[in-house]
Amino acid sequence: MKKIFNPEYKNNRKKYFSDISDDKWNDWQWQIDNRITEANQLKNFFQNIDVEAINKVSERFSFSVTPYFLSLINNDTPLNDPVGKQIIPDIREFKYDSRLILDPFKEENERSPIRGVVQRYPDRIILVTTNFCPAKCRYCTRKWNWDKCQVLTLPMLENVVAYLKKHPEIREVILTGGEPFLLNLDFLDSVLSAISSVESIEVIRIGSRILSFLPQRITDDVISILSKYSPIWIVTHFNHPNEFTPDTEKAVKKILSAGCALCNQSVLLKEVNDSVDVMKELVHALQNILIKPYYIFHPDLIEGTSHFRGSINDGIQIMKGLRGYTGGICVPYYVVDLPEGGKIPLLPEYILKEDEKGFLFSNYEGKEIFYSR
Ligand code: SF4
Repeated sequence: MKKIFNPEYKNNRKKYFSDISDDKWNDWQWQIDNRITEANQLKNFFQNIDVEAINKVSERFSFSVTPYFLSLINNDTPLNDPVGKQIIPDIREFKYDSRLILDPFKEENERSPIRGVVQRYPDRIILVTTNFCPAKCRYCTRKWNWDKCQVLTLPMLENVVAYLKKHPEIREVILTGGEPFLLNLDFLDSVLSAISSVESIEVIRIGSRILSFLPQRITDDVISILSKYSPIWIVTHFNHPNEFTPDTEKAVKKILSAGCALCNQSVLLKEVNDSVDVMKELVHALQNILIKPYYIFHPDLIEGTSHFRGSINDGIQIMKGLRGYTGGICVPYYVVDLPEGGKIPLLPEYILKEDEKGFLFSNYEGKEIFYSR
């Protein structure tokens, strides 16, 4: 069956990392140890980069990328590439916009009832487990924690369990980060065990970009831990069809074998995925490897992201181009996450008129159809 994989991945890997054996390449620790974190190192891979600009921007917000994710960049100028744009510092991050701040959701303080926990809704909490990610998204909502180094510790975990016991209305815990799959595995096991031991918890969610940045991390050891704590939902983060490779599919199959469900959230990013064609290919790539497209987020109001921001109308046009033109399983919700109000789904207008007789609908092709009450 047809799969949508980055066509250049193998060539890029050969071009940039010809001396690296398969064993090393597939070793997640090697990938972590060999992350590219400086502009000078990037020079070894790409001709057309502005070392000075990258250095300047990364003094404000550092950068990091795994060799694997770097091999998904198909363009000699990484800032012209939809994968490269997501992780290479861009001088436009300095463009001032008074709406954009470091922590618009006030996760660090106001929305944090106890250290490590963010609560925005009554029945679920976010548990910030680490600030470490194998690569760094330039539009990251948790930039506030990049330098703060808030990481979960055992005493903090005990407080979290006590908090959950005091609040039986909480039924779901969402592990997030940074990257939860880069926690020490014994600790990850302890976290999942402690949370599952609370009687009122029904389900655990893990928000992770590991399948995009480092699918090699999904080892048999990870799978045997996940298998113990079903039901777990893994919320992946893919933004572009070029982020899929046979390595991604292998990791997804393993996760499915652990009895986990998968869904994906993307961020709508200008010049990365802001077109119907790219989004359609993205949701098809997800469906083909059994990940349900769940959300497309309008970009959060994060400092340094003005160049990624399009209009809400752009997103609505994309939704118009998806709904009806591809199967409903492939159609995510497009949402804007209001710092003071939660997620708002944004839909094209399908009801044109309503009166006592019925509704005038516009179908996906724009055809007007009356439907009586
Ligand atoms: S993977 Fe998530 S937490 Fe990590 S840098 Fe990207 S957006 Fe931030």
